[in-house]
Amino acid sequence: MIKTDTHYHIDLAEHPEQLLSQAKLDHISLIAPSMNPASFAKIIDLQSRSRNTIRWVGCGLHPEAVHTPEQTRLALQLSKSAPVIGEVGLPCYERPVTQQDLAVFREFCTAAAARNVPMIVHAVHKQAAVALSILQQTSVQRAVFHWLKADDHTLAQIVAAGYMVSVTPEVTYRQRDQQLLAQIPPDQLLVETDGPFEHQGPYAGRLTVPQMVEECAAYVANHFGITVKEWWQQHEENVQRIFANAL
Ligand SMILES: [Zn+2]
Repeated sequence: MIKTDTHYHIDLAEHPEQLLSQAKLDHISLIAPSMNPASFAKIIDLQSRSRNTIRWVGCGLHPEAVHTPEQTRLALQLSKSAPVIGEVGLPCYERPVTQQDLAVFREFCTAAAARNVPMIVHAVHKQAAVALSILQQTSVQRAVFHWLKADDHTLAQIVAAGYMVSVTPEVTYRQRDQQLLAQIPPDQLLVETDGPFEHQGPYAGRLTVPQMVEECAAYVANHFGITVKEWWQQHEENVQRIFANAL
């Protein structure tokens, strides 16, 4: 049984090596998005020493952060040969979307579509529909809307387009996330922790670790009326469908 936390910012963990060793002992592997080119380099280095605990590394440019022109140029260049592109997308919380954000996201999408590379997308609330239309215009085949929050209509369009959606431990205690889960078929769902960022509810004050993906999986399995083992099998099929053949 392969258990994967599909979104963990391993380079932001205080002790990434310890965290990876513990994840290995607990049979949990990670997909690691990056924030910028320096973050990407750091994770590639960790991956080389992680004994397969980090399955894939995304080349990204976190959309909520402000980046220098050089960081943007380098991230776009790296994305042309990276196995996975992400985390990329459009800002929502930290600043308004600019024309530059839209143009850069479109370039990442074009690079992903050219090689059929999977994308890890951060585009929530109103930006989800904008990102969806750019993904479709550029013919991106494989993408996950990570930690999605969107209106029902946009969510239905994302599902109809065949893209994946991921839920975090928030799904175990937040009604908004539970309502979202109710609209996603099991073969288009991924689980993640989005660590080390802290969650609220029962997770407040706790360091987010990949092991929390187990609680997410238990909730999702119960929702679909299957065993946790059956969910992890379904999940691995989903992981393979979106990330397999990523170089
Ligand atoms: Zn993230």
